[in-house]
Amino acid sequence: MTNPAPVPLSGHARSVPCDGGGGALGHPRVFLELDRDGKVCCPYCSRRYAMDAQGHVVEVSA
Ligand SMILES: [Zn+2]
Repeated sequence: MTNPAPVPLSGHARSVPCDGGGGALGHPRVFLELDRDGKVCCPYCSRRYAMDAQGHVVEVSA
């Protein structure tokens, strides 16, 4: 196979902004880069995000 890895979303890095939702648990906005499975866990607030089948990043609970 000589094909390069597929690059969804127009070649842009797949990242999701997180600010902890503000309030007492909030933190400065950071951009979290999704891993190869389309998932990431925020190191600041432990929120989990995942990419659904449509390519939308959604927050997942626990
Ligand atoms: Zn966060």
